[in-house]
Amino acid sequence: MKRFLTDLAKENWADVVGFAPADRFCPDDPIFKLMPQVKTVIGLGFRILRGVYRGIEEGSTYYQYTTMGVETVEETIMPMTALRVSCALEEKGFLALPQRRHQNIMAEENETNPEVAYDSIYRGKTEEIQMNFLDAAVKCGLGEKGLHDALLNDEYGPFIRYCFVLTDAVIAPDEMYAPHLCDKCGKCIKACPGHAISEDGKVDCWRCAVYYNGANGTKNPFMPPDAFENFEDRLEIIAGEAEIPAARAKEILDSIYFYPPAKHTYQASICGRACDIDCYVHLEELGVLKKKYNSPFRKRDKWEFDINDFK
Ligand code: SF4
Ligand code: SF4
Repeated sequence: MKRFLTDLAKENWADVVGFAPADRFCPDDPIFKLMPQVKTVIGLGFRILRGVYRGIEEGSTYYQYTTMGVETVEETIMPMTALRVSCALEEKGFLALPQRRHQNIMAEENETNPEVAYDSIYRGKTEEIQMNFLDAAVKCGLGEKGLHDALLNDEYGPFIRYCFVLTDAVIAPDEMYAPHLCDKCGKCIKACPGHAISEDGKVDCWRCAVYYNGANGTKNPFMPPDAFENFEDRLEIIAGEAEIPAARAKEILDSIYFYPPAKHTYQASICGRACDIDCYVHLEELGVLKKKYNSPFRKRDKWEFDINDFK
């Protein structure tokens, strides 16, 4: 059964497959509300093409990462793979419940999802139970938790996304990672052009949303010189150094239109997903990633515009 499902998932786009027994989860974990009889959580990991990060690394094309690295994987590939695995389980008489992150629905009242437009999110929806996705990925053995809450996988580092299938089938589990990739180097924190990650690795989601959308002019090829002209602290915003509580983040986001969003309200990552890229470059330099390529990801020094261009 395990071999059959793993092969099926891999034939249908998954790159990494892991199985966690339900008793690896606390009794009050959302999986038991979603499916009280769940016996196994199947984790499906999908590499994000290293190639689609090139444009946001170089500042040359941003749409490829947004559409091919985020939107298509989340909205097309993952649902198809999870459905295929679920159908196979149901063919064999088991129950299967695919689980992917609802990008526009959240239980929290005051948070946001930087990858989508903040005003398209339905907040406070506790009736819609969602798994703890990162925790489940770790429990399924898809990777370990990095300092900035990215999943780090042995082959793809942080260049991976994931979804799940809950089932009442009992399937032999995989080992969880003994953490060995994240060395707490802090490069993810340093890389963020909006200083959205605290020293202990916590991501301020509103600040991240502002800078994910390109508020730092030194890292945004599309920003006009008079950007944020109605903001007194416009230079601090553009330098990534302004105070940005949630209400302020909404004001700033309302004056951002540097780049068109993809369908499904996915915003372009103008920050260049710098936290994940610098983490990947670090892991690659350490030689700890098992998937090797013919040349290193980073080809030249990082670029940035001069803040004086906005004065
Ligand atoms: S950049 Fe360093 S500290 Fe951050 S997640 Fe990667 S390995 Fe860990
Ligand atoms: S680098 Fe981008 S994605 Fe990462 S925390 Fe900063 S703004 Fe968010």
